[in-house]
Amino acid sequence: MSLFGPLQQQPADALLALIGQYRADPRPHKIDLGVGIYRDETGNTPVLRALKAAEERLWQGQTSKSYLGPEGNTAFTAHMQRLVFGTMDFAGRLAGVQTPGGTGALRLAAELIAAASPGARVWVGAPTWPNHPPILNAAGLAVETYESFDKASQSLRFDEMMAALGRARAGDVALLHGCCHNPTGADLSDAQWREVAELLASRGVIPLLDLAYQGMGRGLDQDALGVRTVLARCPEALVAYSCDKNFGVYRERVGALFTLAGSRADADRVHSNLLSLARANWSMPPDHGAAAIALLLDDAELTAAWREELEEMRSRLVAVRQALTAHGGPLRAVAEQHGMFSLLPLSPEVVTRLRTDHAVYMAGSGRINIAGLTEKTVPVFTAALAACC
Ligand code: PLP
Repeated sequence: MSLFGPLQQQPADALLALIGQYRADPRPHKIDLGVGIYRDETGNTPVLRALKAAEERLWQGQTSKSYLGPEGNTAFTAHMQRLVFGTMDFAGRLAGVQTPGGTGALRLAAELIAAASPGARVWVGAPTWPNHPPILNAAGLAVETYESFDKASQSLRFDEMMAALGRARAGDVALLHGCCHNPTGADLSDAQWREVAELLASRGVIPLLDLAYQGMGRGLDQDALGVRTVLARCPEALVAYSCDKNFGVYRERVGALFTLAGSRADADRVHSNLLSLARANWSMPPDHGAAAIALLLDDAELTAAWREELEEMRSRLVAVRQALTAHGGPLRAVAEQHGMFSLLPLSPEVVTRLRTDHAVYMAGSGRINIAGLTEKTVPVFTAALAACC
């Protein structure tokens, strides 16, 4: 009997397949709005200058590559804690570990929840990052979805979201995007975050906040405001963090998971569970990216340089959003949205026609990567859109 015989062929990742199609397209004016990476005005995904300088110092100064342990680089995690939570003091109730990217943080969060409360359901607004449900399911958690975005009006369905979270049981988990919602770009306002925090706290629903784009929406502190509002109100919470976009270290796989527990003793127990789950998964997270980021954030000059580069990325996204909004139609709301993505109200037929007739590549859902556009290509894209809609 064959071990592998019963395995079913798995569908190729749709976005990765799109990359292949884009590469094979010989048309010189082709535009890639598919894959979720930042690109500068020249179409490049740069290694940030501040990070490069930190990597150079790391390479020069590193004297050993011996094991660090399942918690990873603790200087990195301490820096991330300051970046995410500012001066908030949790009196020893917060624990944090370095993870392989935001994906690793989410997987570790899901496994921790499953170990602590196997019957917990995770409430997820749709649409969401397509990898959210598989990560949660892989840990054995049940996912409850609710509609949280109105494609026609291009806005958050806040009332439906509150109604859905109001149906959650105490001990259930609510997965929320901290900022720069992927795929819609439609974030909660500061007032809405306060309402959500109040609802979760009053019903005993545990927040799982996914913060993957801090600094790319409204600014470093503003993008953490939702997370801070929720953690100030809820006694228990999880925050999955990715550095891969805001430090431009995608392939280095840099992230962290923070947990807030009800007491210092609980936090210590949670931390020991995080370490044993990490040990059984990846044993220890990859070091290079986190070590370089720790070094960068240890240095005031490099930190200032990184903040400037992050602000350059953020303001480029804002400028492209403004240029698009001026064209109205399916683009009218993009300037009110934040981060790298918007979900345009386009039918699958229009998405296909944009690709075949105009060499404009985007996800089948109508999600566009704002950073895939430049001052030069915005008019090309809007003309293609006008021809197809
Ligand atoms: N969460 C969201 C909402 C994302 O969009 C992504 C990446 O696209 C991640 C998490 C995972 O990030 P990473 O590449 O660090 O695993």
